[in-house]
Amino acid sequence: MNSAGLFHLEFRRVLMAMALGVACWFATDDASSAVSASLLTLLLLWGWQLSRLYRWFANPDDVPPLGDAAVRGVLHDVYVLRSRGAIGDNSRSPSPAYRNESFESMREAAMIINARNELLWCNSAAEYLLNIQRAEEQGKPLHDLFPGKALKNYLAEQNFQKPLRLKPGPDPEFCLQLEFSRFGASDRLIFIKDVSEQDKLERMRRDFVGNVSHELRTPLTVIKGYIETLPSLLSGPNAALQKPLASMATQVGRMEALIADLLWLTRIETVEGERKEDLVNVSNLAASVVAELRSAWPNRDIQLRAESVRQLRGDERELRSALSNLIVNALKYSDKGPVKVRWTDSAVGPVLSVEDKGLGIAAKHIPRLTERFYRVDKSRSQQTSGTGLGLAIVKHVAVSHEAKLFVDSQLGKGSCFRLVFPASRCADASASG
Ligand code: ADP
Repeated sequence: MNSAGLFHLEFRRVLMAMALGVACWFATDDASSAVSASLLTLLLLWGWQLSRLYRWFANPDDVPPLGDAAVRGVLHDVYVLRSRGAIGDNSRSPSPAYRNESFESMREAAMIINARNELLWCNSAAEYLLNIQRAEEQGKPLHDLFPGKALKNYLAEQNFQKPLRLKPGPDPEFCLQLEFSRFGASDRLIFIKDVSEQDKLERMRRDFVGNVSHELRTPLTVIKGYIETLPSLLSGPNAALQKPLASMATQVGRMEALIADLLWLTRIETVEGERKEDLVNVSNLAASVVAELRSAWPNRDIQLRAESVRQLRGDERELRSALSNLIVNALKYSDKGPVKVRWTDSAVGPVLSVEDKGLGIAAKHIPRLTERFYRVDKSRSQQTSGTGLGLAIVKHVAVSHEAKLFVDSQLGKGSCFRLVFPASRCADASASG
C-alpha cells in the first residue's frame, strides 16, 4: 500500500474513533469521557493490530488474515515486504560459506579451482583421498597436486566432456578419475574418485586377453604348418583327407585373424590414454590402403576422393587399421557397386568416410555395432569370415583420436561410416613441409 492509501486508511480509523467519541458525548454530555472513548477505541484498534503482528512474527510461516479490513495497512505491507524478501533470498546464489558447507557434507572428494588452475577450496573427503591439508594447498597450482603431463595437456585442451584418469603418486595402482564442470563465472568444480579397483580389473582383463592371445599364437603356427604340409604327403586312399584338411586350414586362418585382432585391440586399449602426436598425411595413407585392397579385391571398384589437404595428429598404424577395417567391411557386406572412400573437410573438422551400396544395417542394430563380437546376422558374418572385432577396433581408434564415429545405413540400400575428427587435431599439409 502506498503512503496516501495508508494515510486514508488510518484517517478513516481516526474519524471512526472520533464519531464514536461524538456519539458518546451526545449520550453522556461529558466531553472528557467522549475524548477518552475515542482514544481508547484507537488504542484498542492499534493494539490489536500490533498483537497480531507479533503473533505472526512468532509463526512467520502462517499467512496473516489479509482479507480482514482491520489488519490491512502496515501489517499487509510488512507481509508483502517479507514475502518479497523470501523470493529474493531464493534467487540469490548461496553464500560461499553455505556452498562450502554443502560440499563439505558430501562423501565425494570435491575441489574448486580458479581460471588460473589454482586451488581455491577442497572438502575433507579430498583432503583424506589426496592426503593433503587444505590450508597448505590453497592458492597453489593444481599441477603441484597432480604432477605429470596428463593434467597439463587436459587443462590446455579445455575439453572437459571426458573425465581425466591419472596416477598421481608413486603407487602405480593408485588411479584417480577427475570430472570437471564449470562453476561460477570462471571457476571449475572437480569431483575426484578413486578408481584404482576398476582400473586394476580393466588392466587384468586386458592383460588376460593379451596373454591368452599371445600364448595361442605358437601352437597355432605349429598346427598351421602341419595342415599346410600334410596335403602334399597324402596319396591313394588318404587323398580323401584333402577336404577336411582344407576346411581345417580355413578355420586356422580364422583363428589367426581373431588372435591378430585381439592383440591389436589390446594394444590400442593399452595406449588409449596416451597422446598420439605423429603428423599423419591421411590422403597418402588412404591412397596406400586403397591400393592394397584393390589388389586383394581385383574385381571390386574402390574409389578414393581425397579433397582435404589437412594432416592429422595421431597414430598412423591405428588410423590405417581403422580405415582398412571400414573398407574391408564395405567390400564384404556389398556384392557390387563401388566403395567410396573420402577424406573431406567439414565445418567441425575433417571427415574420413567409407560408403557402400550393399546390404545395409537395420536401425536397431546400429547402436550396438561397435561392441566386441556383435554381429547383425551371424550367418552373414560367417560367410564373410569376419572376426567380429573390426568395428570395435574402429571405435577405439576413434576414441583415442577424439573422433566421433557416425553410421548412416538403410537396409538394402547401403551404409556410410564416417569418422569426424576435431579441427584441433589438424594441421595443413604444408605444415610438415
Ligand atoms: P565382422 O568381423 O563380423 O565384420 P565388425 O565388427 O567389423 O565384425 O562388424 C560388426 C557387424 O556389423 C558385422 O557382423 C556386420 O553384420 C555389420 N557391418 C559392418 N560393416 C557393415 C557394412 N558396411 N554393411 C553392412 N553391415 C556391416
